Parts: sequence; structure tokens; C-alpha cells
Amino acid sequence: MAKRKTSSNAGPDVILIGAGIMSATLGVLLKELQPDITIDIYERLDVAAAESSDAWNNAGTGHSAFCELNYTPEHPDGSIETAKAVKIAESFEISKQFWAFLVEQGFLSDANFIRPIPHMSFVWGDANVEYLRKRFEALMQSHLFHGMKYTEDPDQVANWVPLVMEGREPSQRVAATRMDIGTDVNFGALTRAMFYQLQRMEGINLYFAHEVRDLWRSKSQGGWKIRVENVTTGDVRDVRAGFLFIGAGGGSLRLLEKSDIPESRGYGGFPVSGQWLKCLNRDIIERHQAKVYGKAAVGSPPMSVPHLDTRMINGKKELLFGPYAGFSTKFLKHGSYMDLPKSIQMTNIAPMLMAGLHNVPLTRYLIQQVFQSPDDRLSALRDYFPNASMEDWELEVAGQRVQVIKKDEEEGGVLEFGTEVVSAADGSIAALLGASPGASTAVSIMLDLLKRCFPEQMQSEPWQRKLKEMILSFGKSLAKDAQLTQQVREYTSRVLDLPNIEPIPEVTR
Ligand SMILES: Cc1cc2nc3c(=O)[nH]c(=O)nc-3n(C[C@H](O)[C@H](O)[C@H](O)COP(=O)(O)OP(=O)(O)OC[C@H]3O[C@@H](n4cnc5c(N)ncnc54)[C@H](O)[C@@H]3O)c2cc1C
Repeated sequence: MAKRKTSSNAGPDVILIGAGIMSATLGVLLKELQPDITIDIYERLDVAAAESSDAWNNAGTGHSAFCELNYTPEHPDGSIETAKAVKIAESFEISKQFWAFLVEQGFLSDANFIRPIPHMSFVWGDANVEYLRKRFEALMQSHLFHGMKYTEDPDQVANWVPLVMEGREPSQRVAATRMDIGTDVNFGALTRAMFYQLQRMEGINLYFAHEVRDLWRSKSQGGWKIRVENVTTGDVRDVRAGFLFIGAGGGSLRLLEKSDIPESRGYGGFPVSGQWLKCLNRDIIERHQAKVYGKAAVGSPPMSVPHLDTRMINGKKELLFGPYAGFSTKFLKHGSYMDLPKSIQMTNIAPMLMAGLHNVPLTRYLIQQVFQSPDDRLSALRDYFPNASMEDWELEVAGQRVQVIKKDEEEGGVLEFGTEVVSAADGSIAALLGASPGASTAVSIMLDLLKRCFPEQMQSEPWQRKLKEMILSFGKSLAKDAQLTQQVREYTSRVLDLPNIEPIPEVTR
């Protein structure tokens, strides 16, 4: 356990609850922006990034909307919505710039946490092929997707991903897109590397095996107080800080409820657990080199889109298929079955019930997923890898997601699939709820949080200067500027040791 390097009766400037990628990103941003800041970080487990941020608990996709079909829904008139895809692609470029800055500064010792893996979408059947073609054409309107390839030629798909085509019914109509500049990110390694450096810095104290039990506004001193228990010794103490970030992943909702800020009312959580099939056969693992995302089954939630994923975990190539969704009342993988019941309060019971009523197909889907047999799982895998046999795969438990339920004027309560920052009007406390697109967009999410909670400092000349130094495109729109996109991608490719990017035509002309 870390020892306090400074003793301050007044407490730190900032407390971060949870040692996942969100707290790591916020901690590093704050320390870069204000080097004399003091931060305490409390983590209930005895290592960082052991929940959703761990490499085996998430899919490690650097979400850029290159391959994820749920970010490009089809409108009833048949047109394809691309606004969300553009936003996510831009957010990931912001993350890459920040990580490149940290590598260049020597804060991160290497860029092994991010490796190039082509991102592919793969579909079959006339309607899905038509959708993918329209999606491709729509995305081609934005330079952020320049370099994407589209094919309906089975031989071309077989050339890109042989496992996907071997043993497939030859008459089946297929289509695929491929983006060579996709990435796999080991968010666990990245998070741990950030905390490793952070805890060596003056004014930072990272406490493992410390669980935050309660929190309340400090009326006498201002800011927030937390009650934290050392889970090894049972010792309990109260700590105060001017700013409190609840980055507790699935644990955030219950802590936010304890704050009792008006902004927290009406929020609830719906837990969705996940499982993967992990490939054990090295020959198979070596024969696949892509993240291949498909289309979600009708009625299934967007985060359960199946994908056959090459992963690079701690220098070793791996292959995962999934996720298979499931239902558990736990909010954290290492949590308690009482998490869901305990999160239900007078202020959120109505939105939770209404969201439940509006999402009967989802509930039905999750129940059906829970009762899947090994044969059912194999059958889902064979949609993507027709020659698969179960003896080459083992089932692993993925991270736990808590989807946001929020109050809605019209519907009473709605279930959301994104992430949401909830903060108090005075900016003294913020919490991150939700799961997707998550870790890939951590930097944009935390920049948004800083704008809300540190508005004056964010406008100040020193912070603005530093932000532009860390993120070349800060304050500008990559979606509107092809030249800047090219410049940023060349920079991040060079520093993060990713393949050279294909020049964007508007820039080369
Ligand atoms: C199955 C799955 C697949 C995913 N795939 C992707 C993907 O491909 N790409 C992507 O970008 N994102 C993906 N995500 C989302 C991504 O993993 C998360 O958005 C991200 O890891 C969340 O980080 P976090 O720091 O908020 O939470 P976490 O990493 O969960 O960290 C929260 C920490 O808080 C601690 N904590 C909780 N309660 C307390 C308490 N009371 N006191 C002290 N500590 C506490 C926990 O122990 C934990 O260490 C996926 C998630 C899942 C579950």
C-alpha cells in the first residue's frame, strides 16, 4: 500500500474514486495542467484496472466507428445516420493524440498498449449487404473514413479473413468493409502504466484495498468528504477534497446516489454481464488478423454485437469471439448480487420500472442469452467461423457493464447505451455512468468533464496552452479539417508506432 508522501490536514485538492482508465486519464490530465495539484486515489481492489479496464474484461477495440455497425443506424427512409460515427472517430483521434504526447514525453515508456489490427464489418444476406454498401457510401463522405475498402467478392473477403469464409455456404451473399488503420488497445496495460507514473509524482497518493463507503458535502470546509475503509485492516477514515470524481465504473451509480445532488436524481442502472469464447488453438489464432464486427441480432442490445477479434495482449496474439450477453444483479465483476436491489431508490424506481417496460425485448434477449447451451454458443461462433469446433475454445467471463437508465419526460424512463457524465451545478463533484464507447473515448469524456467542473481554469491561458500542446487538434474540428486530420494521424502513427496512413486526397490535391 502506498505511503502518504505529503501530510496535509486539509486533505488533497482532488479525490478520484476507482483506479480504472477514467480516473487514470483525469488524474494525468489534471497533473499535466496543474503540476502542483494534490490528488488522492482510492481503489477497493489491490491492483489498478482489474474491472472493466482490464484487457480480458473488454474487447480492446479502439472504437473509431470503422467497423461497429451500431454507430451507423439506418433511418426508416433507408438513409444511414453517420453523425455518431463521425463523433466517435474524432474522439478516438483525440485519445491517440494524448497517448502519443505521453509517449513522446517519456511519461509512458512505450506504445505497446496500442497495436494495429484491421477493423472489418462483415454481413450476409441481401438486406444486410445493401445496408453495408449504403453505410460505406455514407461514410465515404467524411475524410475520417478515408482508406476504407468495400467488397462483395467472397474471394476478396477470404483473402482478408480466411477463417470467416472457409466452410461457408458458397451461395450465401456476403459483403465486408476493411479499414487498415484500426487498432487493438490494451486498456489495462495503459491504465496501469499511467498509475505507475502518477503515483511517483509529488502530491499524488494511490491507495489500493481502500473502499469508499460514503460521501457527503462538507458544510464547514466546502468540497466533499468521503468515508473510506482500508479493507485489509478494517480502519475507516474521512478525507476531504475540493473536487471529487466518482470513477468507480459499475460502482459509480451507488456512490452518486449517496451524494444526493439534485442532478443525480432519476438515474438508475441496468447490469449486463458478458462472456467470451477465447481461442486455445495457436494455429487458428495465427490464421486470423482482424477485428470482424457483425450486425446485432434483432432485439439484442447494441453492445452485444458479435465480433471475431484478434487481440494483442501483453505482446501475445489472441483470438476472442463474443460477447455473449447475460444478466447478473452485480454492478462490478468483483461486486455483490445486492448491487442492483440496493441501487433502487424512491428517486429512480419509476424511471427504472418504465425503462423495464419499454425494453421487454432486451430482457427477453438477456434471459435467452443466460440459458444458452455450449451448442448455442458454437452456432453463434459458426456464423463468423463456419469450421469452428468447441474443443478449440474456452468460455471466459468478461467485464460487467451497467447501462444508464434515466428519467424521461415522455417515456417515464429510458435505457441508454452510451456513457454519461453527471456533475453538480457548482462543479465540485462528477461521476461517470455507462459503458460504451467507453475507454476509447476516455480523453474526450474527461475533457468534457473538465469544461464542466473547472470552467475558469479551462479558459485560462496556461491551461489552453497546455491543452494545445497535449492535443494538436484541441478546440478544432477534425471532421471539418482534412489537412489537420492528416497531420494528426501522421503524428500519432509515428509516435505510437502504427502503420503509415494513406494520404487523404483533399490534402494531396
Ligand atoms: C464486455 C465489455 C467490452 C468492452 N469493450 C470495449 C472496447 O472494445 N473498447 C472500449 O473502448 N471500451 C470497451 N468497453 C468499455 C470499457 O471497458 C469501459 O468504458 C472502461 O473500462 C471504464 O473505465 P472506468 O475507469 O470507468 O471503470 P473500471 O475500469 O471498471 O474501473 C472502476 C474502478 O473503480 C473501483 N471501485 C468501484 N467501487 C469502488 C469504491 N466504492 N471504492 C473504491 N474503488 C471502487 C473498481 O474496483 C474499479 O477498479 C467494454 C466493456 C465491457 C464490460
